[in-house]
Amino acid sequence: MAFQALEALVARHGPTLEWDIIQRGFEFEGQHLYFATKARGIFRPKEMHGGALSIKTIIPRGGRVARYDDSQRGEGVFVYKLQGDDPDNRDNQLLRWAWERSVPLIYFCAVEPGVYQPVWPIFIRGIDRARLECTLSVDDAALTMRELGVPMVADARAVEIRRQYVTVQAKRRLHQARFRLEVLRAYEQRCAVCLLPMPELLDAAHIVADREETGEPVVPNGLALCRLHHGVFDADLMGIRPDGVIELSKAVLATQDGPTLEHAVKVFQGQHLHMPRRREDQPGRHFLEQRYARFRQVG
Ligand SMILES: [Zn+2]
Repeated sequence: MAFQALEALVARHGPTLEWDIIQRGFEFEGQHLYFATKARGIFRPKEMHGGALSIKTIIPRGGRVARYDDSQRGEGVFVYKLQGDDPDNRDNQLLRWAWERSVPLIYFCAVEPGVYQPVWPIFIRGIDRARLECTLSVDDAALTMRELGVPMVADARAVEIRRQYVTVQAKRRLHQARFRLEVLRAYEQRCAVCLLPMPELLDAAHIVADREETGEPVVPNGLALCRLHHGVFDADLMGIRPDGVIELSKAVLATQDGPTLEHAVKVFQGQHLHMPRRREDQPGRHFLEQRYARFRQVG
């Protein structure tokens, strides 16, 4: 029921959820239950027996969410810190219970303070008592539910490979969500080309694409762009000079058409991009140069 309730929340509010939404909880057999509590990292509702229902990133008061806190230990796993410094305390025993019985949990992974990306079903792969941490992998929700319902001998190796793959995807989505929040904040929730102030219609575009080696998901490699200008930029119909001036391709400039092309695209030829106020958020010159070279080549 918790998984289903989360699925409905994500369908309605998108992949990242504010704490206010998470803390409303869900209904189970006429009872109101919580997904998690604000104070605890490892949570089991008092109505539930056995292991934990969810775990959640704990952010130090006034602290920032560590960016790649979980990426250094291989791509196919998440690493989660145990509670406190006793691996056998009550909270950590809930994890142990879930681990020994392969019970799936929910992971509320902090994207920034007060904003979480729920990831589920997650399974505990192992507990490292010395390091006071456990490793987690994500699985496919529909397949997991089917396999839990049908007792059968699962091919452990196949499940392991599948979970690694799903975990890599989940981590990727998480990094994208963080990148988007940071970029949109740097640009004060407006398109860098047209200043459209609607976050629902804004993307965090990469200056150098993330499939390229230098295309890191960092704010100086990002631009907040509305859907239209993101599309125009990605199609190399619009380029940005390293000094921040917008240049349209010859093909666009040569096309004569109605008001959308004129007033939403062509009008920006030669105009300056709207830059973030903080210098460290502004586009990196090396990113702009690399991307502009490609625009010149294509255009
Ligand atoms: Zn725009």
